[in-house]
Amino acid sequence: MATFRKIGILTSGGDAPGMNAAIRAVARAALSRGIEVYAIREGYKGLIEDDMKLYSSPRDVSNIINLSGTVLYTARCDEFKYPEGMAKALETCREREIDGIIAIGGDGTFRGATDLSAHGIPTIGIPGTIDNDVTSTDVTIGFDTAMNTAMNMIDHLRDTCESHARCNVVEVMGRWAGHIALRTGIASGATIVAIPEIPFDEDAAIAKIIKQKNEGKRSFIVVVSEGLVGYAEKLAKTIQEKTGVETKFARLAHIQRGGKPTLQDRLLASEMGAAAVHYLLEGMSDIVIRKVDGKIGYINIKKALTVDRMFKGKLTDEERAALSPEDKVWMETRCNAVLGDMKRLYAIANEIS
Ligand code: ADP
Repeated sequence: MATFRKIGILTSGGDAPGMNAAIRAVARAALSRGIEVYAIREGYKGLIEDDMKLYSSPRDVSNIINLSGTVLYTARCDEFKYPEGMAKALETCREREIDGIIAIGGDGTFRGATDLSAHGIPTIGIPGTIDNDVTSTDVTIGFDTAMNTAMNMIDHLRDTCESHARCNVVEVMGRWAGHIALRTGIASGATIVAIPEIPFDEDAAIAKIIKQKNEGKRSFIVVVSEGLVGYAEKLAKTIQEKTGVETKFARLAHIQRGGKPTLQDRLLASEMGAAAVHYLLEGMSDIVIRKVDGKIGYINIKKALTVDRMFKGKLTDEERAALSPEDKVWMETRCNAVLGDMKRLYAIANEIS
C-alpha cells in the first residue's frame, strides 16, 4: 500500500456552509496520523498555480468549524480540464510531494477528481453543495443550512404577507434540483410547491388559492425551485391576475449560500472529512464519500456521475447499453428511490397545505 507523506485538500465549484468543518476534519484526521496537509487555495486553480500553505498543526484549522464560505476560497478553473492544466497540477503534486488529494465540491469537482486519480494522484471527493443534487448520497454538505436559511427568510415573508393579506412567491436555489424547494416548502407551510422533477398543475394551484381565500385564508406562500427557470416570477403575476390576491415575488438567491452552518452540516462534514482521510490511507482512490440511510460509505466517482446523469434523464442510449447489468439495476433502483422520496414529500406538501 502507498505511504502517505502529505495530502492536499481543496474546495472547488460553488461554496456551501460546512465546507470549513470538512476542511478541519480532513486536516485533523490526517495530522493525527502524522500526515501534513496542503491547504490548496481556489480549488484546482491553486493546484495549477501552486498556491497553497501547509497545515502542520491542528491549530492551523482552529475556529473555522462555525464559519461559512470556505477558508480555502473557491474558483472555477477551466484550464484544469485540459492536458496542459493537468500537467501543471501534476508537477505541483510532484514538487510538493502530495500523495493524495481530497476535493470538496459538486459534480464538476468530481470530474476533476477522477481525472487526477487517472493520472496517478489518488483523489477522493466529498459532496459539498447546497443543492443536494448528488444522487448517490442522501445528503450533501450545506444542504441543511441552506434549507434552514430559506425557511427563516420565508418565515419573515409570512409575517408581512399575513398583515397585508398577500401572497409571496419565493424562488429558492437548488440548481436543476427541487430538493431545497420541496423540503423548505413543507417546513414553511407553503400552500404551493413547484419543482422540476414533478409536473406542476398550475390550474389546480390557482384553484386551491381561490378556494382557501374564499374560506377566509389571508396570506399565501408559494415556493418555486430555481430549476424551473424564470417560472417563479411568471407564476406570481398569474396568481395575482387569476386570484385577485396581491402577489409579490422574492428570489432568495445567494443568501442561501452563506450563514453559520447548522449542527447537521457540521456533523456531516466532520463525518465525511474523517472518512475521506480514512479511505485514502486505506489505499482507495477515485471515490466519492456518501451518506445513505444514516451510514457513511463511498462510491466510485464514475458511477456517482453516471447515476446523476441517469436521474437527470441525460444518459444516452449508448451509455445505458454500456452499463453492466448490476450497475444498471443499482442505478435504476437508486433513481427510483430518490424520485419516490420526492413524490412522497410532494404528496405530503399538497395534503397538508
Ligand atoms: P461543482 O463542483 O460545484 O459542480 P463546477 O462544475 O464549476 O462546480 O466545477 C468545479 C471545477 O471542477 C471546475 O472549475 C474545473 O476546475 C473542475 N472541472 C469541472 N468539470 C471538469 C471536467 N470535465 N474535467 C476536469 N475538471 C473539471
